[in-house]
Amino acid sequence: MPRISETQNGTTAVLIAGNGRGPAETIESLLLRGDPKKFGVQRATSYDAAIKAIAEETHDICFVGETLSGRSGIEFIRETVASGWCVPVILLTNPGGNEAGLEAIAAGAMDYLLAEQLEPESLARAIRHGLDRKRTSLQLRDERQAKAELQQQLLDLQAAKEDFEELSAQHARVAEELYSAREDIKGALDKAEESERRYRTLSESSPVGIWHISFDGKTLYANAAMNRIFNMNRDDDLSGDHYEAYVGGDGRKIMEEHLAILSGGETAEWELEITPKGGGDSRYVVVSGAPLLASDGVAKSALTTVIDITDRKKAEESMRRLAMHDPLTDLPNRVMFQDRLSHALAQAHRNGSQFAVLYLDLDHFKIVNDTLGHPTGDLLLKGVAKRLLRCVRETDTVARLGGDEFAIIAPDLKSGDYVVALAERIIKSLGEAFILQGQKVYTATSIGITAYPTDDTELDTLIKNADLALYAAKESGRGLFKFFTPEMNAKAVSRVAIEKDLRQAIEGEEFALLYQPIIDLRTRHVISAEALLRWHHPKKGIMPPDEFMPVAEDSGLIGPIGEWVLRTALKQAKDWQEAAARPPGVSINLSSRQIRHGFSKELVTKALGEAGLSPDMLTIEITESLVMEDTGSSIDLMKSLKDIGVILSLDDFGTGYSSLSYLNKFPVDYVKIDRSFVRDITVDKDDAVLIEAIITMAHRLHLRVVAEGVEKKEQLEFLRSQGCDFAQGYYFSKPVAIKSFVEFIRNWSRKGGRANPKSRPA
Ligand code: C2E
Ligand code: CA
Ligand code: CA
Repeated sequence: MPRISETQNGTTAVLIAGNGRGPAETIESLLLRGDPKKFGVQRATSYDAAIKAIAEETHDICFVGETLSGRSGIEFIRETVASGWCVPVILLTNPGGNEAGLEAIAAGAMDYLLAEQLEPESLARAIRHGLDRKRTSLQLRDERQAKAELQQQLLDLQAAKEDFEELSAQHARVAEELYSAREDIKGALDKAEESERRYRTLSESSPVGIWHISFDGKTLYANAAMNRIFNMNRDDDLSGDHYEAYVGGDGRKIMEEHLAILSGGETAEWELEITPKGGGDSRYVVVSGAPLLASDGVAKSALTTVIDITDRKKAEESMRRLAMHDPLTDLPNRVMFQDRLSHALAQAHRNGSQFAVLYLDLDHFKIVNDTLGHPTGDLLLKGVAKRLLRCVRETDTVARLGGDEFAIIAPDLKSGDYVVALAERIIKSLGEAFILQGQKVYTATSIGITAYPTDDTELDTLIKNADLALYAAKESGRGLFKFFTPEMNAKAVSRVAIEKDLRQAIEGEEFALLYQPIIDLRTRHVISAEALLRWHHPKKGIMPPDEFMPVAEDSGLIGPIGEWVLRTALKQAKDWQEAAARPPGVSINLSSRQIRHGFSKELVTKALGEAGLSPDMLTIEITESLVMEDTGSSIDLMKSLKDIGVILSLDDFGTGYSSLSYLNKFPVDYVKIDRSFVRDITVDKDDAVLIEAIITMAHRLHLRVVAEGVEKKEQLEFLRSQGCDFAQGYYFSKPVAIKSFVEFIRNWSRKGGRANPKSRPA
């Protein structure tokens, strides 16, 4: 853009538009008259040249005449103004041209100069004004231009800003979307990562095995704990394995069943025994799982947790062993016996085989315990257990049911032969002496046997049968075995009926006592009468004690019955005091368990007082087995009875296996040889020897001997020859009612004590 550079270096550029001489020439000469360097003058003689020159805007001021090459100066002014050129134009008027001058100013000229009045001062003034004007208009134009530029810039800026805003809005939207997308992804990732991490941590550090298994049995994943369970290294990979690689037999069936449950969409839990892939003992695990849905919504596998319960199992096992075994003999106990029995039952049922159950009871074990001490008793039980195990086959079960009771299960029997042989073998084996802590100890056993399926097919009934058979074996003498028979059962059933009736018996006065005399073999006096109980059953007639005493004992009815016997016997003995010169005393039998049911020294003292009899008129017969059942309390009772002067007799002597060795431990006065020995003394040499030995031994211990069951003269002769003190039996008299007995003693003393042949059995 042209500037007034000329003025800056002191020269004012002047354009004079005009032709010819006239005012233009005047101006030029005026300007150049003073300092020629002060002005640079250019002349444009035509309109077009003038326009061309002014358009360059290099001039500071332009003078134009009223006409220029035929065109008007005013027109020139208008054109320059319209063109926006910044060179101020002054019109030089022709003479008298005020009017033209005014028109020129209106057209945009800066001023006009009247040609006739041209003077240097007015010209200088006009030029000064012109210069100012040019400067101002240039400035104005610059400002305008700057303003326009600014405006444009502003507009541009505005547009740019809008663009920017639009962009940034877009950006923000995108950013936001991005952000939220990222957040989502991050959240998802975090979650995935966390659950993955949690899963991993859980999975890898968990003591619980995690086992992902396909329904067809293949391992898809197994965690570190699974490796531990399988005795594998941490890094070993179990995946791909089929469970059949480490689950055998029953386990496979269990797996199959439970995978089927899982594939049916249900959860399942099961126990499993596995063989560790890495070797070692088998382990027990609890597997619990749920079906795992695949992305298509169908379950093809199950995710399971596996807990190693081997230790628990082992603990349980030893607990079970403790609970199932008798710690003393290490034989199976009653619990395990029942378990084995039900096992044997199921097995026999399956194969249609036979088996037998043997119940054993040691005879008089208690006496060993009480006289030789519990440690010896324990040793005896251990010894018995050992011998029993030696007698049986490997497949047989020997159990200790408690105390001195043992049981044997003998499975897979072809016939009864084995059982008979076994029972005989056991009786023989246990009959031999045990050497315990340097001393010989004897025991014996009774055995009851029942067979499946001959006797019964129910477990409880078989146990009951064996018990009944044992009971029967004991009843018929010790050291015997007996097979169960239906009669035993009938007997058991009748026992129930007997008990019911027995409760009525005392009140109904259905009892009576018979008396059997006991004869002094030296003086031939009747020294006593044994009171023997009879029950007049209202329907069944007279019942012997053997049929109801066991029931009375078991039911506890023995208490009141025994008391009735004591009182009645003493009262009746008092009654016969007048019948003879030397009136006999009375003997009563004291049954086992009677002590526990009210029989005491006090009761005896009271009954003696009531009857008005002295204690030495009463003999109490106590069986050896009673003493052995309850040694402590029975010996105490015996001592206290002896203290008050009652005579004690050891009944059924000889039926106990080790009678002689314990004889001196009992505070008795008499020993009563069991009638089973007396029966055969004349035919059986062994019995004769035994009786001889008993008599000798008893006498050495200052005991007197009674022989019971004497039926024959020869028996009596033998007994007398051996120095037996007293005798009792049918040879002298059967047990008779009180009236007959009183008669008997009268006759007896009259005849001088000879046996009445009439009283002997036919
Ligand atoms: P026990 O104490 O051994 O009684 C003797 C048994 O032998 C009696 O049988 C008697 O009748 C029988 N007897 C006597 N002489 C002979 C003979 O020469 N030959 C044969 N073969 N037998 C003879 P009983 O009266 O049947 O009594 C059986 C058992 O019942 C008794 O055996 C006794 O243990 C018990 N008993 C009887 N009465 C009572 C009682 O009042 N209380 C208690 N607790 N038990 C009694
Ligand atoms: Ca007796
Ligand atoms: Ca007896």
